[in-house]
Amino acid sequence: AKRSGADRIEIFNAAMRTEDESHLPLESELRMALDRQQISVLYQPITRLASNQLAGFEALLRWDHPTRGRLAADDFIPLAEESGLIVDLGSYVLNQALEQAASWHRVLPRDRDPLFVSVNVSSRQLFRQDMVQEIRLMLARESVPKGTLKLEITESLVMENPERAVEILTWLKAYGASLALDDFGTGYSSLSYLHRFPFDVIKVDRSLVSESALDGQTPLILRSVVALAHELGKEVVAEGVETQADASYLRSIGCEFGQGYYYGEPMSAKDVAALLAALASH
Ligand code: C2E
Ligand code: CA
Ligand code: CA
Ligand code: CA
Repeated sequence: AKRSGADRIEIFNAAMRTEDESHLPLESELRMALDRQQISVLYQPITRLASNQLAGFEALLRWDHPTRGRLAADDFIPLAEESGLIVDLGSYVLNQALEQAASWHRVLPRDRDPLFVSVNVSSRQLFRQDMVQEIRLMLARESVPKGTLKLEITESLVMENPERAVEILTWLKAYGASLALDDFGTGYSSLSYLHRFPFDVIKVDRSLVSESALDGQTPLILRSVVALAHELGKEVVAEGVETQADASYLRSIGCEFGQGYYYGEPMSAKDVAALLAALASH
């Protein structure tokens, strides 16, 4: 049976149940949260493994809920997708992220590789006619170096409509965005269709990385993914790098980038600015 939206919202509510049950449904709260500036964007560092240099950040949404406290993306993104609010949230995070990236470029030395900002895109956004135009205008307005904006797109999303996805992704690239295949290694991952899509980067999901130090087949799988990605001319970002051992292993197999608590948790725009100011003065 097809699961209705109501079902899923019900599951969501059950997981979220707190002492105050009498308030507005979370969906209308989320609608107001954007206007009331309760939604913030955090930035998690992504490091180039070979040089240990900061390479960019992934933008991640948070909701500072007045009574529930700070909600992680997993706690409200599904609801936002369900209700269509993800379109407005998505525009918000794109604008914020690009504005921040432009400000990073102003403080860092010119001879340094420009930092990129990676933004998650959901299916409700990708297949909308106006998103491509919106991104084109945004990129023209901020005049950031090519590749500054990376769009993270999951394989399940592109597989919803592969032909249309190829078209859209090709336009986005033409406008100067770079493209990352997100959450690789979850679901029915298959590298065989990868050459059809113009991705620049493969992001290996943390479920594959967190077991890399263990016995079993995971290191072999990880190594094969990296090797095949390279054969196809794509770079690899590993998520969920939590220990020095994870980082060394990934470096040893030629993975280009690492992201995870070992390098830093998602941080506020203000903290990023302080970090970059310290980098610039060294
Ligand atoms: P994701 O794209 O896989 O993002 C990585 C998630 O892993 C983030 O969770 C991040 O905080 C967490 N993480 C980072 N390093 C580590 C680590 O070393 N260990 C562990 N255990 N976790 C780590 P977060 O911020 O809760 O986001 C969850 C998901 O929500 C994201 O998964 C992404 O799919 C979605 N999301 C977040 N922001 C946005 C957004 O602006 N738009 C859309 N459409 N989705 C978003
Ligand atoms: Ca992501
Ligand atoms: Ca992931
Ligand atoms: Ca994801």
